[in-house]
Amino acid sequence: MRRYLHIDLNEHNVREETLSGEQLARAGRYHIAKTLVDMNVGPVDPLSPENPLIFSAGAFAGSNWSNANRTSVGCKSPLTGGIKESNAGGSFGLALGQLEIAGFTLLNASDDWTVIVLRKDGSITFEEAEPYMGKDNFECASLLHEKYGNKVSLAICGPVGEYGGLIAGIAMSDTDKRPTRIAARGGVGAVMGSKKVKAVVCELNKMPTFKDRKKVIQGVKEYNKLLGADDLIKAFKEYGTAMVSDLTNETGGLPVNNFTAGRLVDTNEETLKMGGTYIREQNLARGGQTAHACMPGCMIECSNVYADADGKEIASPIEYETLGLMGTNCGLKDPDDLARLNNMANALGIDTIETGAMMGVLLDSGLAKFGDVAFLTSVLEEIGKGSEKGKLWAQGTARVGEHYKVARTPTIKKQGISAYDPRVVEVTGISMMLTAQGADHTTGNSPGYDCVGKDIDELVDVSMGLQVECAAADSVGFCIFGGGITNEHLDLVIGSMNSALGTTLEPSFFHEIGCETLQYEDEFNKAAGFTEEDDELPEFFYKEALWPTNRSARFHASEVNEAKRRWWQENASKSTGKSHEGYSTNN
Ligand code: SF4
Repeated sequence: MRRYLHIDLNEHNVREETLSGEQLARAGRYHIAKTLVDMNVGPVDPLSPENPLIFSAGAFAGSNWSNANRTSVGCKSPLTGGIKESNAGGSFGLALGQLEIAGFTLLNASDDWTVIVLRKDGSITFEEAEPYMGKDNFECASLLHEKYGNKVSLAICGPVGEYGGLIAGIAMSDTDKRPTRIAARGGVGAVMGSKKVKAVVCELNKMPTFKDRKKVIQGVKEYNKLLGADDLIKAFKEYGTAMVSDLTNETGGLPVNNFTAGRLVDTNEETLKMGGTYIREQNLARGGQTAHACMPGCMIECSNVYADADGKEIASPIEYETLGLMGTNCGLKDPDDLARLNNMANALGIDTIETGAMMGVLLDSGLAKFGDVAFLTSVLEEIGKGSEKGKLWAQGTARVGEHYKVARTPTIKKQGISAYDPRVVEVTGISMMLTAQGADHTTGNSPGYDCVGKDIDELVDVSMGLQVECAAADSVGFCIFGGGITNEHLDLVIGSMNSALGTTLEPSFFHEIGCETLQYEDEFNKAAGFTEEDDELPEFFYKEALWPTNRSARFHASEVNEAKRRWWQENASKSTGKSHEGYSTNN
């Protein structure tokens, strides 16, 4: 059994609910989607007190199960106007689990800025936030640790979230207490700011109660053994996600100079410095760290600590999507420049994907030349200060593109497209079109899939299969990077979940919860006013052929949605035995 906290910020009151069994298995993205649909949040103003902000941890939270301590954060997105679930690694989900808290919902808004403290003794207090206001996230975290000690994990609304910038995420502590694991996408930080919650401090404790602890620990060992024997997992550990640049640069799907090219360098003539191989070798030579776990217990360890030439840390972590959007998409060629910008963004607690896509649009508008590091630095400074320009730029790619009248504005549902050019990385492009989350690659990413010559049904089939798996992983607190093991060993994963919760779930539960989550999300967006037309790619992807592949986008929203409907019809019976009543395949 675990506690679920309904925190009314108006009254500073907490109503506790006790959850058990399957209720605890239906967590994360599923819990967020179902709750938001049940509460009829679709039509509300996302920055009003009526938009709840939900934090949810999975069934294994608090244990050392590898990559199963993610924290999902969700609400109606002020960036897209649709549903949003954004999850982060770090130790916050672990801390919630250790206090036997399944999650909490922040309801309404506080009159004054507050810090919520969740303690081992079960108490919940609302404390003075003034000392932390306006501070960057590193300073804020350091002050919070000074006050609450080192045995706590933090979830912070940064300075941009304080003023309602839609690029603001919610920053959570990593294993070394850096506040750099960010639930970044969709403006969840702005929603936290609208509620005047500066931070949530959660005390760390010990492994929580499980129904059959021995079997859970046995499951941890078996899962770790499988991870240790997997080649892709080994590659994640050695190169991190930065290795994806080597692939997309080769295939021509890497965003370069605001999506005007798909390759940064010809590797026959020049080294790709913005790729995993170069970064790993340089970082190790400088004394940086590869194979870094963002959350305690993760055996995949795809994170890293990037060091400068003197061996001093510049930023942690450097991820592919940041390299792609804030880096190559802005004309950068040197990872040191990118790492410095990345660290500034971490200090502000903002989404590096959205910010990078927005900065690419600013450069395209003619404000500066691609690769102008001084200009890009000044953009982040203005955003940090919250100046008039900074506040405009903090509204994200779509609104900035509209303001400067830039036709080449790479967004879907007003969210910046991630670092996979949809003209080449078509499956990921289709996932970003179809998902209710806005242009979010984590909903169904397949950068290595060879799309050439494949028809729409083949591509949508791959995308939807991935979307179900990713929605399921996001609903049980798992990091999707373990997907190759999780999805192939559901008997182990769901069996261990039964041992943890005392449930009798079948392995098919994983697929079912993924499908149900997608259905709830579509239902939410429909209630929020979205139609099929909102799934269309920006026109330039259809009109401008991309160098070097000379490919342009092949599929419009209507075709993609028709194929999606065919997919649901074919997969409805095997997809879920408990198909959500309100869902229609016409969504
Ligand atoms: S695989 Fe990487 S991102 Fe996922 S939990 Fe582990 S270290 Fe964090």
